[in-house]
Amino acid sequence: MIMKKKPFIPALACAIIFLCICGVLGFQYWNLDSRYHSLTAEAAQLRESNSGLNEQLEDSAAQLDEKEKYIEGQKDYITELSEQMQDLGKEDNSDEDEQQEDWYSSHNSEDDPYPNLYADKDNMPAQSGQKYVYLTFDDGPSALTPKVLDLLDEYDAHATFFVVGKNNEEYSQYLSEIVKRGHTLALHSYSHDYNQIYRSVDAFLEDYEKVYDWVYEETNGYSPCLFRFPGGSNNGSSYVIHNIINEMKRRGFTHYDWNVSSGDGSNLTTSQNIIDNICSNVKYVENPVVLMHDGSGKNATLAALPTVLQKLSDAGYEFRSLDQYSEPVQYRQAE
Ligand SMILES: [Zn+2]
Repeated sequence: MIMKKKPFIPALACAIIFLCICGVLGFQYWNLDSRYHSLTAEAAQLRESNSGLNEQLEDSAAQLDEKEKYIEGQKDYITELSEQMQDLGKEDNSDEDEQQEDWYSSHNSEDDPYPNLYADKDNMPAQSGQKYVYLTFDDGPSALTPKVLDLLDEYDAHATFFVVGKNNEEYSQYLSEIVKRGHTLALHSYSHDYNQIYRSVDAFLEDYEKVYDWVYEETNGYSPCLFRFPGGSNNGSSYVIHNIINEMKRRGFTHYDWNVSSGDGSNLTTSQNIIDNICSNVKYVENPVVLMHDGSGKNATLAALPTVLQKLSDAGYEFRSLDQYSEPVQYRQAE
């Protein structure tokens, strides 16, 4: 009986092991099968997007081809135009050259039809030995202005005042006084605010019209035609300034910069500095235009002025106002 029971146990164990192995293998098969399906789906997706990309690539290549052809066409057109321009230039120059030669050959010195039409340089200031200096005062009028005017009178000196409107309204009566005493009343700015006025041509004109109207009303119709850019014409963006200069020229206004600075823009400059800056630098330029200030607080300038007037007078200078006939000192010019 014992012998009969023994083979049953190993058989059962074998069956259990077999079933376990079958289970594990079955699970792995199921697992691999589902991975196979998901990979197949991914591959299909990739194939699809790949073909989309290929289409895009082909489109872009076609566009690129088209653009290259267009550029080639433009290049040919430009070459053709420049050749035409060169031809035209040659024709023009040859015409002008011929005319010029004709003119010279028929107008030699012996039969000059305009024998008296030559500039008489003896009348020019440089020949007569007379030296001129143009003192200019910016940023006024202020409480200092009448004192400056009195000092100028003492030396029979004329000067130019580039006035500012904002914060100076209470000194409006000095505008007429400047004109009455024979000086040139010119415009500087209404606000003197660089960020505002140099934004655009319109921004500049809007500000300029304010100071122009103020002066015109306060002086009963004095119409200034000279002006000075705050900071000089080399301030602000060159593009905007060039457009302003051209537009102001079109309106008949001329701007004046300076070629000698007194250095009184800084409140740290002493009267002695101002005297030295002016008197040592005027000799390096012809017809010096001197930058000074008569705005509020420029007491050092006022204190320096008698010595400046005396020294320049001793050096033979005549003090003149700028006018439309004076050669303008301009850092940037109209085009
Ligand atoms: Zn100024």
